[in-house]
Amino acid sequence: MKIKSAEFVISNSDVSRCPDSPLPEYAFIGRSNVGKSSLINMITGRKSLAKTSGRPGKTQLINHFLINGSWHLVDLPGYGYARVSKSVKKTFQKFITAYFEQRRQMLCAFVLIDSRHDAQPIDLEFMQYLGENGIPFCIIFTKADKLKPKALERNVETYKTQMLENWEEMPRYFITSSQSALGKEEVLHYIESLNEQ
Ligand code: GDP
Repeated sequence: MKIKSAEFVISNSDVSRCPDSPLPEYAFIGRSNVGKSSLINMITGRKSLAKTSGRPGKTQLINHFLINGSWHLVDLPGYGYARVSKSVKKTFQKFITAYFEQRRQMLCAFVLIDSRHDAQPIDLEFMQYLGENGIPFCIIFTKADKLKPKALERNVETYKTQMLENWEEMPRYFITSSQSALGKEEVLHYIESLNEQ
């Protein structure tokens, strides 16, 4: 898919104020610093789309962007470095869970994982939450350029092994680098395929 237009629509922390639109949408979420803004800018081919909403205070909001006038890209707040809590609802702010539970046009959540790191409890817990609530998601491994190919392959394999302790199969995943644009076409192609369904 070619990105012809990408524009900021609205930021808010109330799912009921998200655009009243039936357009399909795709959410991007992950731990702070995982490379989410860079990835959003990379896949949309815009230098600072994600930063448009990156003014202080805006980072804790649900940010909608309209892409090609036909789908929404949703930039969700990065979750912190907090350790796993007993209640997912406490770890992940209420408006985030409300977003996932209420936004029926959300066709896939892209959960960003730094390809350099071991599986983090908070990410595993978040994916567990998505699974238990029947919310479709994929994994995006970020910053692939920071590793040598062998190390990258080993990390992804390790991640798969860890996921398979809880999941029957590995969710669909993409390996990306915002620096080299690795994975850009694959992610966009996947979004396009869901848009067409
Ligand atoms: P966010 O907090 O998840 O939005 O993360 P950012 O996109 O701001 O990225 C955090 C840091 O990681 C920044 O210093 C980026 O330059 C760096 N970064 C993000 N993606 C990549 C990548 O694909 N490759 C490399 N080498 N650095 C990256």
